This record gives sequence, structure tokens and C-alpha cells, in this order.
Amino acid sequence: TPPQPFVHEARPMRVRFGAALDAVLADEVRRAGLRRTLVVCSPGQVGLGDRAAAALGELSAGVFAEARVHVPAETVERAVEHAARVGADGCVAVGGGSAVGLAKAVALHRGLPIVAVPTTYAGSEMTPVWGITRDGLKTTGRDSRVLPTSVLYDPGLSVGLPMHVTMTSGLNAIAHAVEALYAPDANPVTSLLATEGIRAMTTSLTRIADRPVDRDARATALYGSWLCGACLGATTMSLHHKLCHALGGTLDLPHAETHAVLLPHALAYNQDAAPVARQTLAELLGSTDPALALWELARTLGAPRSLAELGMAEADIGPVAEQVVAHPYANPAPVTPDGVDRLLRAAWSGRVPG
Ligand code: NAD
Repeated sequence: TPPQPFVHEARPMRVRFGAALDAVLADEVRRAGLRRTLVVCSPGQVGLGDRAAAALGELSAGVFAEARVHVPAETVERAVEHAARVGADGCVAVGGGSAVGLAKAVALHRGLPIVAVPTTYAGSEMTPVWGITRDGLKTTGRDSRVLPTSVLYDPGLSVGLPMHVTMTSGLNAIAHAVEALYAPDANPVTSLLATEGIRAMTTSLTRIADRPVDRDARATALYGSWLCGACLGATTMSLHHKLCHALGGTLDLPHAETHAVLLPHALAYNQDAAPVARQTLAELLGSTDPALALWELARTLGAPRSLAELGMAEADIGPVAEQVVAHPYANPAPVTPDGVDRLLRAAWSGRVPG
């Protein structure tokens, strides 16, 4: 069948893949027209932050190592103040989605361009989506100013990524691509990105599970995370992402782990209503039941499989289901209170999806 009419918007961004941070970061920052960049990272990544600052030399305005998951508003205020004090004209975000998220919040407030160096597979660097959490409520929005100007993927930086982060963040990436396959604004280009992203991510994660320091597999995973992140930036996400957003924002459940647990359940909810996506996933995962295949994959990879083990109380299921059903949005299968409640109960107890 010929392609149906569609709209595809390419994002204005430079991607450099496979070069070493120490060798090329200064060049990337200079190309972005920046002269004094603040390095932003998580507290656990100070060593990497210092390494980035050293690579930048005179282009560095120091390191701000306070990035936290879900981007708390207080941290944003401190970072914005700090950036103004040191006269930064841009940010270099090194690390996972938390570091990129904080740089985005600074960009939103002060318009400072971002050069991103992702070391997890979360994919935030490819999207114009920002998120800030205040008083337990996470607000998100789209703004072209928060899209990084330039992204450097250095596979060497992800070789030491702890296995737990590797696997959950890899499944987080796969979730972007799965939902892109049945997105209301999917098009042939995003479907290509999603298919290749899932292929790269699933094959490399299985190899990394056997041998964490497999550099080729690490490079393939980072390549997959780029493609999956590009899907997230180009399409509208559905039930799976709404659920993760609600669980992260209101209960402070860990981001990547929540994605890892919910993905098979959200796909089981949707796969019959999205036959083309189901067929693509069946071929990629080698199973006529892709949701079940992803559930098995999570076990093989040693990822968590129940919301209870992430610390969610059973009593929270009802309020979260209500929150997710309250706002209508596109989803292949109708989003009903009963359906979402059942999905969450299965995910909470770690039962077989569907
Ligand atoms: P994260 O950034 O919090 O990183 C997870 C952990 O891994 C941290 O402890 C970090 O210090 C550590 N880590 C990172 N790189 C490492 C490395 N190379 N070696 C060793 N340890 C390393 O988590 P994440 O899953 O990457 O990102 C989650 C956050 O990103 C959430 O806040 C989520 O909402 C956001 N996010 C946003 C978007 C978007 O489009 N806006 C997309 C995806 C994720």
C-alpha cells in the first residue's frame, strides 16, 4: 500500500556520533557559537562533569552538579541563578535525562542553548519537551528553545553505566519507539526510526546482559537510544507515557524502572487495537505476542517487573487510574477506568500482561 498523507517535521539539530568527549567537546561548543558554558550533571557524575570542563578548557564556566530526577523547581532556581552569576552563555549537559532535563529548564528560563552529551538511553536530548516538578506535581511542555543545538554521542562514556540503569533506561528507550509505532501522528519516517531503534536496542541489551563491557554492543545501544529518542521528539505518546508521567510525578517512582515495568502491560492493552504496530513488533521480537515477548525480555535483562517492588502502595492504584483517565488523549484502545485499573493491578503485582 502507498504511504497515507502525513506531516513530518525534522528537528534542527546537529548529531555527532562515535567521537570521544575529550577530543571533540570543545569543537562542538565552538561550532554552537558558545564561549562560556556551564557543565550540568548529576551529583553522582561529578567526575564526568569535571572531565567535560577540562575538555572545554577556557570555554568552561564551571560545573553545576545538582541535577536530580524529575527536575525539582528548587534545583532549577539555583541553577538559573548560578548560570547568571558565572555569566554562562550556554549549558553542556553530561549524563542521563536528569542532567539534560535541568539544562532544558535553564534554557526555558534564560534561553541558553544546550550541547548535550547523553550517557544513558533515556532520549531526552532529542526532544523539545521539558518537565519541572513543584510540590509533587510535574508540569511538562514543548518549547523549541529547550531542544539541544548539538548532541554528542560518545559510546565510551556508557561502557561503565551500571547494569540496572542500562537495562531500565534501554527499556525506557524501547517504550518511546513502541508508542511511536501507533502514535496518532506516526509517519513512514518515524516508523523507520522506531523499527531500527527497537532492533538496535533489543539486540544490544541482550549482548550487554552477557558482557557489560562489550563496546560494540554499547555503541549499538547508544545508536538505538538516539533513534528511539528521535521518535519521542517527533510523535505524540499515548497511554504508556501518560501512566509513567502520573506515577513519576505524583508518587515519585523512579523514571526508567517505571517504564520498564509498565511497557509490556501498556502494549498488551493496545496491541489488538494497533494491528500494523503489532505486526512490526511481532517480526522484531520474534513472537506473535509482542507484549509477552517484552515481558520475557525484561526478565532476561534482570529489569524489575512489578510496581510493588518499586515501592508503590496498592492503595495508590485508584487515584493514579483516575488521574490518567481524567484527560482525554489519543490511544489505540479506548482508555477506560476499568481497563486502566486492571492494567495497573497486573503491573503492580507483576502478573503476566494482558
Ligand atoms: P538519570 O539521569 O537520573 O540517571 C540515572 C542514574 O544513572 C543517575 O544516578 C546517574 O548519576 C547515573 N548515570 C548516568 N550516566 C552514568 C554513567 N555514564 N555511568 C554511571 N552512572 C551514570 O536517569 P535517566 O533515566 O537517564 O533520565 C530520567 C529523567 O529524564 C526523568 O526525569 C525523565 O522524566 C527525564 N526524561 C525526559 C525526557 C524528555 O523528553 N523531556 C525523555 C526521557 C526522560
